[in-house]
Amino acid sequence: MQFNRSLQLFERAQKSIPGGVNSPVRAFKSVDTHPLFIEKGKGSKIYDIDGNEFIDYVGSWGPLILGHCHEKIISAVENALHSGTSFGAPTEGEIQLAEMVKEAVPSIEMLRLVNSGGEATMGAIRVARGFTGRDKIIKFEGCYHGSIDSLLVQAGSGATTLGKPDSEGVPQAFVDLTLLARFNDFDSVSELVDLHPQEIAAIIVEPVPGNMGMILPEHGFLQNLRSLCDREGIVLIFDEVMSGFRVDYGGVQALLNVQPDMTTFGKVIGGGFPVGGYGGRQDIMLQVAPVGPVYQAGTLSGNPIAVTAGIATLELLKEKGVYDEISQKSSWLVNETKSLCEKAGIPIQGNQMGGMFGFFFSETPVRDYQDALKTDVNRFKKFFNQMLRQGIYIAPSAFETFFVSTAHTDEDLEKTAAAIKQALAHL
Ligand SMILES: *Cc1c(COP(=O)(O)O)cnc(C)c1O
Repeated sequence: MQFNRSLQLFERAQKSIPGGVNSPVRAFKSVDTHPLFIEKGKGSKIYDIDGNEFIDYVGSWGPLILGHCHEKIISAVENALHSGTSFGAPTEGEIQLAEMVKEAVPSIEMLRLVNSGGEATMGAIRVARGFTGRDKIIKFEGCYHGSIDSLLVQAGSGATTLGKPDSEGVPQAFVDLTLLARFNDFDSVSELVDLHPQEIAAIIVEPVPGNMGMILPEHGFLQNLRSLCDREGIVLIFDEVMSGFRVDYGGVQALLNVQPDMTTFGKVIGGGFPVGGYGGRQDIMLQVAPVGPVYQAGTLSGNPIAVTAGIATLELLKEKGVYDEISQKSSWLVNETKSLCEKAGIPIQGNQMGGMFGFFFSETPVRDYQDALKTDVNRFKKFFNQMLRQGIYIAPSAFETFFVSTAHTDEDLEKTAAAIKQALAHL
């Protein structure tokens, strides 16, 4: 496989864009290689600028649950374009998308649309602070909630991959308001709440973390957070930017039957366009301007083209059997990988929920960020490069999650399993 043109473009990109990329993980630094410049995508495949074909398990980092260039989304967007691309005034599509989210996710009574997942978590935190009149928040080590000052503390994937859990430029004053607990360790949360009585505005959590690799919540963990928040008047925020409409049409909260006070969305609800959203209980959401005192705004928020793509995506996802189908595909891949690893004598842990799945090269189960950091990252690097050379595009980090789409075929899955077998022989 030749990457000459990607290498040339990468050289050129680095002269005008920091690191040549507009989001750090795209640089492939943590797998000791260079990014591929993508020319096009169709269904389950992407094609780089050198003409190489890959089966894609990144799916733009989660949004493309229907694969690339789904015809119904493309034609909905094409039609919408002729009516104008942005007005900065309300359009009917925004109501429709909000109504669809409410119908899908019962804890949502009201929703505000924004342009990205990070913008959604930023809005949710601000509203929770305004609603409670408290400043401190609790987040979990290794959970990522976007490139937001108060949340860039031990923030998993991108930051972890670069070995810099905290970012320069985030004032200590912000970090001081962000308390860190350990995922799957309820005592670490209740201790913080006891230490800071009446000071915690919100607990924000990825209910199924996907940004320190994929980790599952242990039985009772999310329910315990729910009871604690009820008792202490703390706003429980589920960051379902990745898991929303990905593990199930109603997100993790529907599958595990735990209702947060607020939820953030992104990725899938934009159907490949920049859309995010935050919502939840009506009494909390009525704090948001122009009805309430918490200001939050956006020139392109609720953009008609992006909203059209979101609606078309949710309409397709609502059809019967979609989540069974992607669940079967991802669990097949996980089971196949586990048994191939077993035969090869390579210790592995695998997790899966709906259309997301992940692996750790580890002897022992991974329940939190500290466990994730102890896994065999060097082995992952080799694995990644072996897979790439065989035309399988997975996330370039040991701390990311993989995604399947409705477009992945049985043939794709078989090819992937064969590539895994081959890759394991080189580890
Ligand atoms: C991707 C992600 C975000 C950030 O979304 P952006 O659209 O990249 O800003 C926030 N939270 C979670 C859980 C995510 O996976």
